[in-house]
Amino acid sequence: MTKNRALFLDRDGVINVNYGYVHRKGDFHFIEGIFELAAAATARGFLPVVVTNQSGIGRGYYSERQFNRLMQWVCLQFKRRRAPIAGVYFCPYHPEHGVGRYRRDSPFRKPRPGMLLKAARELHIDLERSVIVGDSASDMKAGAAAGVGRLFYLRSDETAPLPELPPEVRIVRSLTAIVPELNF
Ligand SMILES: [Mg+2]
Repeated sequence: MTKNRALFLDRDGVINVNYGYVHRKGDFHFIEGIFELAAAATARGFLPVVVTNQSGIGRGYYSERQFNRLMQWVCLQFKRRRAPIAGVYFCPYHPEHGVGRYRRDSPFRKPRPGMLLKAARELHIDLERSVIVGDSASDMKAGAAAGVGRLFYLRSDETAPLPELPPEVRIVRSLTAIVPELNF
């Protein structure tokens, strides 16, 4: 069977402006270029897949139900723009700040690659031929650990300090700058 390729997208800071623990539609502001990137990737045969740490759930700031409802709406916005999201993977746990059952060290929490590996299994994704876009070192480390072929670090604020990143990471100033890089 021919394997799929994915456009893995971090959520906060890549899909939407990261105000911190965003969980309401009214606070969900899409980042410029995200639909253009997702639609271009879809047209080239990539499956857009969301991979997001959501310790806000574990911390008790919002529930899984609220998260899922918001993401249903987010997915509808992508579908309307010809870029249907193939999967949403989230990790609600936090090793120190999680409350109750959410307090645990999870192999799914980035920088660990668990979410990417699970998506690859479930959606038959060839990781080597896939792409990940993130705005934190943990996104890039998770991508590198999973063996994702191309890693893009979105650095929209040039004045922000640059974290230490895996050597294969490419730094981009905008989401649309990734579009020409999808031809491989
Ligand atoms: Mg982020």
